[in-house]
Amino acid sequence: MSDCIFCKIVNKEIPSEVLYEDDQILAFKDINPVAPVHILVIPKKHIISVNDIIDEDSGVIGNIFIVIKKLALQQGVAETGYRVITNVGRDGGQEVAHLHFHLIGGKELGKKIG
Ligand code: 5GP
Ligand code: ZN
Repeated sequence: MSDCIFCKIVNKEIPSEVLYEDDQILAFKDINPVAPVHILVIPKKHIISVNDIIDEDSGVIGNIFIVIKKLALQQGVAETGYRVITNVGRDGGQEVAHLHFHLIGGKELGKKIG
């Protein structure tokens, strides 16, 4: 989608610090990290949110979690722990309307959600 920030990041029209890329998935550092490790993992396909995932997306969604697992290991948080979050819609606090999974870790995150 032409006016989507994350599609522009996928197309390299906006620079980002890429940590992983394949034909379907991109992972890059969040521009405003809330913890020492804060990575966004996205499908390259413009899917708005979990609400918009369709059956044929199941492969890429599964692979995103394999990427998250590998990045957690690489970033040294697999043992200490981390959080994976995807915000959906207004009440979920979703600011960018392109499906993304936050991988957050490197400090104790506490029990509070959000
Ligand atoms: P949401 O609130 O939609 O779940 O999360 C959107 C995330 O995208 C935020 O954590 C925000 O810091 C990040 N973000 C927004 N614009 C950019 C950008 O241009 N580059 C990068 N790397 N991250 C961004
Ligand atoms: Zn998009």
